Amino acid sequence: MERKRIFSGVQPTGALHLGSYLGAIRQWVLHQAENDNIFCVVDLHSLTIPEAVNAKVLEAKSREVAGLYLACGIDPDRCAVFIQSHVKEHSELAWILTCVTPLGWAEKMTQFKSKSEGRDSVSTGLLTYPILQAADILLYDATHIPVGEDQKQHIELARNIAQRFNNMFGEVFVLPTPSIPEVGARVMAFDDPESKMSKSTAVTKPGHAVSLLDDEKRIRKTIMSAVTDSGSEFEWDKASAGVRNLLAIHHALSGEPIASISARFQGRGYGYLKQEVFDLVWGAVQPIQERYTALTADPTQLDRVLDRSTARIRPIAEATMKRVRAAVGVG
Ligand code: ATP
Ligand code: MG
Repeated sequence: MERKRIFSGVQPTGALHLGSYLGAIRQWVLHQAENDNIFCVVDLHSLTIPEAVNAKVLEAKSREVAGLYLACGIDPDRCAVFIQSHVKEHSELAWILTCVTPLGWAEKMTQFKSKSEGRDSVSTGLLTYPILQAADILLYDATHIPVGEDQKQHIELARNIAQRFNNMFGEVFVLPTPSIPEVGARVMAFDDPESKMSKSTAVTKPGHAVSLLDDEKRIRKTIMSAVTDSGSEFEWDKASAGVRNLLAIHHALSGEPIASISARFQGRGYGYLKQEVFDLVWGAVQPIQERYTALTADPTQLDRVLDRSTARIRPIAEATMKRVRAAVGVG
């Protein structure tokens, strides 16, 4: 079987949460032995909301996300873990790809619509960041991109941009495919189960997400206060969005079929389901926190992983840029 080249990343816009873990990082860990893996902390993407950026905080958050990758079980001997802005080719390729991407393609991205909603003014970067994301992926000849459901449209855009570039300038890029997990692909917010759990929203809304670094008391409070409804319906097809979210999280962590979870709780209050979900979530998060504390006790450990990984992947990015520059005729 041909070896896959995996690339994926998370923006250091806030704390990693249960959705990033179930939708993305847990998949990376599960399949890391089978493939070539490159996991990036995409700090340049965080600049798309400049009013939320503070230089000291951004640097610290980038390190926190990289440290959490490792604490979640990413093995630095098998996977490269690095910070996007440390490899300058990302920005260069992003510009060249911006110039071959029709404006209409960027305007069709639903994340731009949802992220710009309610704001008086947004940066142009918020519109074009999916093109930077395409550059992140194409720079490393990645074949498979493990992401949550929300990123499917962006990976398809990356593929379309690669195809268009290849048609215009010759075969330069490998076409990437999204890999979406069967469970955990769309974890919803605890305070608003009609919306996806998001790091950037969690910054201002305390009951929105379970962050991987929240303490036990806070996680219990977030889950026990999750929005449900005033009924007592556990059956998937009839349950409200909040109850379905709790059932889905339970299933993603316990592996128990949803129908069996629903049957066990039928006729009882939602509080019992919440309690079990809390036990499962804390059971998953506590060991991550323990490994994170051990890892960060000596910050040079993380520096060494980042330096070694960057040295390993930089030649791939440089080789791609050589092909790209030659294809378009720039130096
Ligand atoms: P932001 O609000 O800054 O966009 P985010 O929470 O959406 O943050 P990202 O950094 O955009 O997180 O995404 C990181 C990875 O986690 C992506 O693969 C994305 O698909 C996945 N992911 C993010 N949120 C969820 C979620 N609620 N459920 C499942 N997967 C998710
Ligand atoms: Mg996002």
